[in-house]
Amino acid sequence: MTAEANPVPATSGTERAEDDLTPYGGVVADAAWRDEVLRLAEQHNAVILAHNYQLPEIQEIAHHVGDSLGLSRIAAECDADTIVFCGVHFMAETAKMLAPEKRVIIPDARAGCSLADSITAAELREWKAEHPGAVVVSYVNTTAEVKAETDICCTSSNAVEVVESIPADREVLFCPDQFLGAHVKRETGRQNMHIWAGECHVHAGINGPELADQAAANPDADLFVHPECGCATSALYLAGEGIVPEERVRILSTGGMLDAARETGARSVLVATEIGMLHQLRKAAPEIDFRAVNERASCRYMKMITPAALLRALREGADEVHVDPEVAARGRESVRRMIAIGRPGGGE
Ligand code: SF4
Repeated sequence: MTAEANPVPATSGTERAEDDLTPYGGVVADAAWRDEVLRLAEQHNAVILAHNYQLPEIQEIAHHVGDSLGLSRIAAECDADTIVFCGVHFMAETAKMLAPEKRVIIPDARAGCSLADSITAAELREWKAEHPGAVVVSYVNTTAEVKAETDICCTSSNAVEVVESIPADREVLFCPDQFLGAHVKRETGRQNMHIWAGECHVHAGINGPELADQAAANPDADLFVHPECGCATSALYLAGEGIVPEERVRILSTGGMLDAARETGARSVLVATEIGMLHQLRKAAPEIDFRAVNERASCRYMKMITPAALLRALREGADEVHVDPEVAARGRESVRRMIAIGRPGGGE
């Protein structure tokens, strides 16, 4: 902690321009910070939720850590008045959609997502007009407005099941992630499925050659690969060629990775997703040597939720997340249809 007069200094970033993505800073995550955050959370009857890709200090102070959908469900079911969602904006929006009566706050509303931004509601409407009668399946990494234009939402755990539930003669429009789309198309063998060319800049940066090099250098390691990664196809290719034994390659959502970590007999695991995930994996299975396939795979948006931003959120009640009630109602339907199909898991 820093200043003397005020043991927990106020943050001063509120006046900055929207396009300045410098995170709020100047606060150290020490014991005084921790006490103050928990005191304010209690005072406001707030629950702090943190995504698996958050900074370790944010994960440590949160009441719950998990994946986007799992956290939104906690938001809907808990009895807190205020949800402080430490993640990116579309996740806080999803929480607001599922818990419309609660106040939802994200510690920095500038924390966006390049994948969610890769398709707008207007673009989706245009795409639908080109394919009348098609069923729209959207990954959870989408804005509330895109969810409102969607027939069935999906996560990386159930995307295959969701697409299989659609009658074979109906066209499918899958958005926004092209790597997850390619994975689903391969698994279902479906030909009448169109895939939007969106991607997450972090996951797309984890590529096949890097994975191949790492797999060769660590011949006994399991490979945990998130299907949004550019390397998901390479991982399956390496397995198909016998370069990596098929049973060592696991294509998993973030929640699935934690389950697999507890069950695997491997002593080392190569992890292909955002590096924040390593924190929970190491906690779940401390005896395993977890290594990132790409140590630079860090999401700058996720890391905008700093100790200073969290403190500001609790002190100022900012930034509050609002979703138009009509948009929220339509978006909720697409999430409900997914849950009715089963095994939603948690997506990213
Ligand atoms: S890691 Fe990629 S998909 Fe996830 S929040 Fe960041 S930009 Fe979005």
